[in-house]
Amino acid sequence: MISMKEEIKKVIEETGLPIITDEKSGAAQWVDLRELRLSYIISVENIKPFYEGLKEGKLLGTKCKKCGRLFFPPQKDCPSCFDSDIEWVELKNEGTLETMTVVFVRPPSFSAYDPYPVAIAKLDDGPRILAWYKGDPQQAKPGMRVKIQVGKRKEGYLMYEIAPA
Ligand SMILES: [Zn+2]
Repeated sequence: MISMKEEIKKVIEETGLPIITDEKSGAAQWVDLRELRLSYIISVENIKPFYEGLKEGKLLGTKCKKCGRLFFPPQKDCPSCFDSDIEWVELKNEGTLETMTVVFVRPPSFSAYDPYPVAIAKLDDGPRILAWYKGDPQQAKPGMRVKIQVGKRKEGYLMYEIAPA
């Protein structure tokens, strides 16, 4: 079977352009062979306190003053009652492990990393947290006690991670 990449190379040779016709819709499609390297800037203005908390080793979430729900990652507007009256609260950095897996097939933005474990923990305060797991994946068991700690990524910046308690 001929791969997509080979097929496009053939099309470029024949037509001078990487344009194919979609089988289902019949629409012309540009198929680029270049790989996309993406760096981006996004606004974190609304959740600045969260990053200030990380610097102090704290995990901050938001609490809706109207309905009392706690959110992590922090939400500037309550997704439940759509109210914007929120307050910042420090979450207890403890919980239980719900699931953990090792990511072997990494997205391009994480291709510089070795396969890495990712876990979901349920914080004692309620919210669930998805983060890299810093511990032996072979020893991880659902229900085991974990803590949320602040660690440094390869790029040198701070990020929260899940570790055995
Ligand atoms: Zn609410």
